Amino acid sequence: MSNVKVEIHQTLQNSTTTLVEMTNSFATTTEEDKFLAQYMAQLKADPKIAELPHDQAHPQISKALQERVRSVNEDTCDPGEENSFFVCDLNEIRNLHKNWQKELPRIQPYYAVKCNPNPLILRLLADMGVNFDCASKLEIETILKLGVSPERIIYANPCKVSSFIRFAAKQEVKKSTFDNVEELYKIKKFHPESELFLRIATDDSTAQCRLSTKYGCDLENVDELLAKVKELDLNLVGVSFHVGSGASDFSSLYKAVKDAKFVFNKVVDEYQLPKLKILDVGGGFQFETFAESSAVLRMALDEFFPEGCGVDLIAEPGRYFVATAFTLAAHVIAKRTVNNNKEECMLYINDGVYGNMNCILFDHQEPNPRVLYHDNKFHYEDFHSSSPKPECPYKVSMWGPTCDGLDCITKEYYLKYDLVVGDWLYFPNLGAYTSSAATPFNGFDQTADIIYINKEEPL
Ligand SMILES: *Cc1c(COP(=O)(O)O)cnc(C)c1O
Repeated sequence: MSNVKVEIHQTLQNSTTTLVEMTNSFATTTEEDKFLAQYMAQLKADPKIAELPHDQAHPQISKALQERVRSVNEDTCDPGEENSFFVCDLNEIRNLHKNWQKELPRIQPYYAVKCNPNPLILRLLADMGVNFDCASKLEIETILKLGVSPERIIYANPCKVSSFIRFAAKQEVKKSTFDNVEELYKIKKFHPESELFLRIATDDSTAQCRLSTKYGCDLENVDELLAKVKELDLNLVGVSFHVGSGASDFSSLYKAVKDAKFVFNKVVDEYQLPKLKILDVGGGFQFETFAESSAVLRMALDEFFPEGCGVDLIAEPGRYFVATAFTLAAHVIAKRTVNNNKEECMLYINDGVYGNMNCILFDHQEPNPRVLYHDNKFHYEDFHSSSPKPECPYKVSMWGPTCDGLDCITKEYYLKYDLVVGDWLYFPNLGAYTSSAATPFNGFDQTADIIYINKEEPL
């Protein structure tokens, strides 16, 4: 250990190496990058890591979709009866929770409510012992109304409305994040008992939804915040970060944990503040890459916050807990043939970018259209393709129901069947950042019905 320190010291003297690297267990960042690149390559090559945590309940989802579609007669139904709808598998959420406990047993999740504030899901999560990440007065209220105690909430918005801070104080919601000095003045004034998490910025350059451009304090600016915490005599309890969502390179998680450790050390060594008690590793976890991100995270935590180190671990997963629990079904309402070509058309469906597929714009998602019902037959899990293939000769672009040209679901997709008005499509895995931001723009009410399956725990 001392050898490493000497080496770092020498590097520091000989170069422009920053202070940050002093907490590094590697002599140089290049060495660390090399190690991480190797580690990540190894993970990606591991077949166990590529496996999805569990199978989705396709037969049951298919059955629920069919029953609903069969119940609608588009020739005689009331306006809106043929609206898009969701199937939600509550058991999927139970399975995801079990999987969380298996992969990240040391980390207590605080579900990010904004992702999908569906009351049944919030209730189920609360009953399973999941806590909550809220960002506004309404979200806090919603969770408190479930009977969840305020200690199980983190008000994880680093830039809060003053009147909401007063509300949080009154409700005894104490945990909160900050990343700037102005926020500390507000907290001193309105909620001096608050248990504060300093949110640091991360390298989220490979993430689809970057958050560190908006939030998080750079390590170079941590001193200013710690000095202010000390001056105002505030209660700093931990560090938080968010590596962004849809990341393809999870070495950012390792680096963020390491940076957090740097702050933990600084607090005690340089500011003589009480030792920090909690590390919040944020959100950004996804079903598809969960094994990989968990492995990196466990490795980083074992190095910087090993078991028994006296630091509690929490996280703020949003999409992980809901994305795969929802399937959206939508109806083909209109069709236009393109260039007199029998195999190319524009399909108009009754949900889109202003409705439950706003995630295309806001969350960089690319929903996968699949044929559900065509020619009096159901085709769940049938073939579809995003690139031209002999089995999928029908080229389509797909559009939402509003009169805005922006309302496009996909510019190019290839289907096995030549869909017609009255057919149905379904889109799997649309539970995260979908219904939570749907709008009634242009008079299309997009509050879709939800059909729940597996409401009771199966035996
Ligand atoms: C949105 C958000 C989350 C959840 O992110 P996911 O990508 O859905 O996991 C967690 N923490 C904070 C502070 C957020 O803003």
